[in-house]
Amino acid sequence: MKRLDKQCLICGDGFLPKSVTSVYCSAKCSKKAYKQKMLQLKKEAELKALADKIPKDRVFISVAEAGILFGVAKRTLYRLVSEGKIPSVNLGTRLVRIDRRVMKEMFGPARSVSQAESAPKKKLYSLEKEDCYSIGEIAQRFQISEGSVYNHIRKYSIPTRQIGKHVYAPKTEIDNLYNGNDFI
Ligand SMILES: [Zn+2]
Repeated sequence: MKRLDKQCLICGDGFLPKSVTSVYCSAKCSKKAYKQKMLQLKKEAELKALADKIPKDRVFISVAEAGILFGVAKRTLYRLVSEGKIPSVNLGTRLVRIDRRVMKEMFGPARSVSQAESAPKKKLYSLEKEDCYSIGEIAQRFQISEGSVYNHIRKYSIPTRQIGKHVYAPKTEIDNLYNGNDFI
């Protein structure tokens, strides 16, 4: 009987290695391993591209975004959120937002993204009417009730301005709060 020194990393069969570095039994398995590696690299590149798209200065991130940035499965995050272990804001159906800072405390630093580590951007918002949404517009745009909008504005100290009968809030702040990709 042939002495089989090694176990192939792909198929698990024992084989006689041609050299000390051989880890696959055959060209077929070695090709398969290469393919898997390429697929993994591609997946990592895709994740990195997605992570790069998430604005660094956005505090509230979706579960999908948190999963990408911190390398945690979405299912796990939803569980932790529902158990109250990760505080979250529920902005509506499927619109759970998590505080990025909490994620960092629990899971360590986010996936390194290529965005330059520039000085933190100064909070800039304009309360000019054309740079604002009215509360009604926000409710319509993000499919939530006006009452919820007021609650979130209070909770997150978003500046507002009353013009005539309407209350306005800066588009930048509102987009920052409600945007986020839930469907990655
Ligand atoms: Zn093999």
